[in-house]
Amino acid sequence: MSSAPTTTIPNDFLDPICYQPMISPVRVNCSNNHYFQSDTVKLWRRLHNTCPLDGEPILEITPDKQLQTEICTFIENHPNLFWNKASQRGKTIAEINLEIAQPTEPPHELQCPILYRTMTDPVSINCPSNHRFQRGAIQQALKEKKKCPLDRNDISQINPDQALRTRAHVFMQIHPELYSGKTIAEQEREIAKDLKAVQKASESATEPSRILFWIFHGSRR
Ligand SMILES: [Zn+2]
Ligand SMILES: [Zn+2]
Repeated sequence: MSSAPTTTIPNDFLDPICYQPMISPVRVNCSNNHYFQSDTVKLWRRLHNTCPLDGEPILEITPDKQLQTEICTFIENHPNLFWNKASQRGKTIAEINLEIAQPTEPPHELQCPILYRTMTDPVSINCPSNHRFQRGAIQQALKEKKKCPLDRNDISQINPDQALRTRAHVFMQIHPELYSGKTIAEQEREIAKDLKAVQKASESATEPSRILFWIFHGSRR
């Protein structure tokens, strides 16, 4: 038996909101048969009694033991994919569980690579990787150059990413502690303020200092 080493975690093993492997997977009774880590549904149900992804009412939540075994076995067999730099070994199930229950930062999939903030209004661009950005941030960057800020490919289009928007909004609501308890509307106002500051700086700056400003501004958080 020979198989190529697996270099990624199968998508089906990840919670669609926190992007962590589902240590306790549950299926909700929506018509899309969505799966979540049980914590995600538990936190979400304090606010809404609907499927986080499609809004259908939740009547039943079913733990999936077989999937749980598959995921836990996968984690144990692929320590390289769950590497813990501090301990120099793969994370244990208990360690992953703790990260899910008490995240210290939002999943990078939900963060705008320009603003380093969770995207309240994500758009994808037509570079080969279809990178995602907060709409206002990429619009502003494109005024400078019609190129992807990450890979420098030419871009001509931005498209709203409704699915990612839903995920980001659910994550922000179930983990308000990572956003100083601010509502999504409050965060949007802060993003607008940030963008205005960048715009103002770029109007009065030469190109190298504009780039430096972006870098500085982005890594501030
Ligand atoms: Zn659903
Ligand atoms: Zn790109």
